[in-house]
Amino acid sequence: MPSLNRQILIAACLGLALGWLLSILPEGSETASAVLYASTLVSSAFLGLLRMILIPLIFTSIVVGVANLQAHHQVHRVWVITLCYFVITVSLAMLVALLAANWFEPGAGLSLQLFAEAMADFEARQLTLPEFFQHFFANLFQNPFTAFSTNNILSVVVFALFIGIALVAGGERFSAIGELMRQMLDMLLLITGWIMRLAPLGILALLLRLVAEQDAALLLTVLGFIVLVFATTLFHGVVVLPGVLYLATRRSPLWFWRGAREALITAFATSSSAATLPISMRCAQHNLGVRQGVAGFVLPLGATMNMDGTALYEAAAALFVANLVGIELSFGQQMVVFFTAMIASTGAPGIPSSGMVTMVMVLQAVGLPAEAIAILLPIDRVLDTIRTAVNVEGDLIGSVVVDHLAAEQAENPRDRV
Ligand code: ASP
Repeated sequence: MPSLNRQILIAACLGLALGWLLSILPEGSETASAVLYASTLVSSAFLGLLRMILIPLIFTSIVVGVANLQAHHQVHRVWVITLCYFVITVSLAMLVALLAANWFEPGAGLSLQLFAEAMADFEARQLTLPEFFQHFFANLFQNPFTAFSTNNILSVVVFALFIGIALVAGGERFSAIGELMRQMLDMLLLITGWIMRLAPLGILALLLRLVAEQDAALLLTVLGFIVLVFATTLFHGVVVLPGVLYLATRRSPLWFWRGAREALITAFATSSSAATLPISMRCAQHNLGVRQGVAGFVLPLGATMNMDGTALYEAAAALFVANLVGIELSFGQQMVVFFTAMIASTGAPGIPSSGMVTMVMVLQAVGLPAEAIAILLPIDRVLDTIRTAVNVEGDLIGSVVVDHLAAEQAENPRDRV
């Protein structure tokens, strides 16, 4: 029996190949609908299991992680390094996007007529910058039960931070709760291991559907833009992020990819950093040797706030839309795109196509028609794959970098949490 890692890789290739086979079968074929139906069942069971474990896992791992870090006086250091890492890598991602989009000018000369119909029917969801902040802060502190039941990861993170810090502040008084949380976390990781056994099948089903259900004609029309986004996102994931990893830790990219492969393929297939989180946590701790305290802190925060792929996409897409409607964005306007895409990617939750909602904000910030989302939406399922994989890669590399730098700075580097 091949290792799980290899099974996932084989399943991903099989899923892509079978999906393509289905797409060339004649329309209305019974085999195709039966296979599609079966893969819908399998993929929703897999996603459902990941969602089932997600919130309890985030909550306990942050509580335990923060309590451990706090006990070793490392919380402050981890915070600062994490935030610096997030800001630097997202800025690099957008720089890559803006340079590539200015260079290749995707969308210039494409006839807007092609999309006129889609644009006419579409009502864009408006989200201005002030509204965005209002929404962001309203989401930050919530009744924990509401946050748990609505999968609001950001406020679960905030609540867990409070509990983790309080556990340490209370010392002996709360030791029973601390022990309970540690045991809960162990148990949830065990269950995550069981869910992982289903990952090859889940990934096969997800990728099969992805390929089989694409509208090839539409994809061809905007092929230039799709290729550009794929290539620049890949460049960020294959050159820039591993470069940051090497500079900060002297670790080789190959070592990283071997350890992170399960999480990256799952992110590609699910298009959701949040759904991938249980698998990312396992990869970080088991394969990449990140301390639980750091992984439990950086990864959930990263899955909601650190989205290199999304920021890159939003910046490139804004310039694409500008080219489509024939507007040249000045340097100043491109800077506005830079900052709004940074904020927008921070606010996008780690679920499929969430970047599309915050994308409206970026378009509006420079006066581009929000309705242009109608052009981007139909091709989003395809582009969401690679950008989510890079989002997750950014978080995983972040956990390795933060772990390394925080340990290096500690008075006693061997003071492992
Ligand atoms: N699907 C992405 C993620 O989960 C977010 C996005 O739509 O850009 O990371």
